[in-house]
Amino acid sequence: MEEKLHFNSATIHGGQEPDKAYGAVMPPIYQTSTYAQTTPGGHKGFEYSRTHNPTRQALEKSLASIEAGNFGFAFGSGLAAMDAVLKLLKPGDEIISTNDLYGGSYRLFTKIFEDFGLKFHFVGMDNPQNISATINKKTKLIWIETPTNPMMNVIDIKAIATLAKKHGVMVAVDNTFASPYLQQPLTLGADIVMHSATKYLAGHSDVVLGSLVVNDEDLAARIGFIQNASGAICGPMDSFLTLRGIKTLHVRMQRHCENANEIANYLKNHPKIEKVYWPGLEDHPNHSIAKAQMKDFGGMLSFVTKGADYDAAIKIVEKLKLFTLAESLGGVESLAGHPASMTHASIPKELREKSGVVDALIRLSVGIEDVRDLIADLEQAIG
Ligand SMILES: *Cc1c(COP(=O)(O)O)cnc(C)c1O
Repeated sequence: MEEKLHFNSATIHGGQEPDKAYGAVMPPIYQTSTYAQTTPGGHKGFEYSRTHNPTRQALEKSLASIEAGNFGFAFGSGLAAMDAVLKLLKPGDEIISTNDLYGGSYRLFTKIFEDFGLKFHFVGMDNPQNISATINKKTKLIWIETPTNPMMNVIDIKAIATLAKKHGVMVAVDNTFASPYLQQPLTLGADIVMHSATKYLAGHSDVVLGSLVVNDEDLAARIGFIQNASGAICGPMDSFLTLRGIKTLHVRMQRHCENANEIANYLKNHPKIEKVYWPGLEDHPNHSIAKAQMKDFGGMLSFVTKGADYDAAIKIVEKLKLFTLAESLGGVESLAGHPASMTHASIPKELREKSGVVDALIRLSVGIEDVRDLIADLEQAIG
């Protein structure tokens, strides 16, 4: 059993040991589908790379370590990881989730799994009473995302996990926006933590990958079975890139948070800005939960310009130069997005506006550049 490391060491060393063959400090990219056996069943723990691959296994151990869990699983994308969680359920089972969920998650739930007989309820989760009102005997899973995308609502994981436990309901948390640097949902009572490692974990916008981490051995066995049986795994090269990204997660996150803090305050004091959504601002409706639950407030923020409509918001994102107009988030470089036409275009307009995703909303993934250059870029674009 390895000694429990502090987070800033776990990112570099957690679950890792030098490679057994030559002592390589970074696990080699084992670009192989199969492994030689001396006699049928005579192998070194690896038979076929859908089931196990040494590079993926090194990543899975790292993922478990940084999320303070026992078992890690890596998948071909964040949505492939979510797909595996939903396959734990059966027709007739009900799921409660948030009403400003990541667009791709909403699409997976409603366009794929509803057809397989799962029933989804979308409620405002920043008020746990909305969950109590929806929970029933068929409820099997609560799917939390916090902070939410793009409204940055912060949901009280511990309160919901406590409520869920009373009803024997499993809790999964999409921890993509926060990263384990800011919060570790398993330590707050969640059963499953999921990541689009594409974002902060890998951190360099060069890989698409997903992960799950759990503590319970039976649950781990069921997820491992689904991972192998359905086969939505990631390859060794992507596993390697994600491992390399995780090693600098803590230093990147610190700078993401510092830069976002400066930009949130700059926007808040800007005469042309109507509203800024960042959990670190004291007037954010969930600021006190964020302060208690998270180590810092993250690198994601959204804002609305006074009097702006759909076209005016698009003009601003087009004018930005250092902020690249792109989907995705969590890389070292700053990105800007227009949720209504990009990440949230798959959510019906009435539904998205009800949760605050108006046409004028702009979302920023604040990178780790010099914040003075980022602010100068916003200044010239907002005008
Ligand atoms: C990107 C994202 C996903 C989906 O992950 P992929 O790696 O793109 O499949 C899920 N949840 C959140 C919050 C995301 O940002």
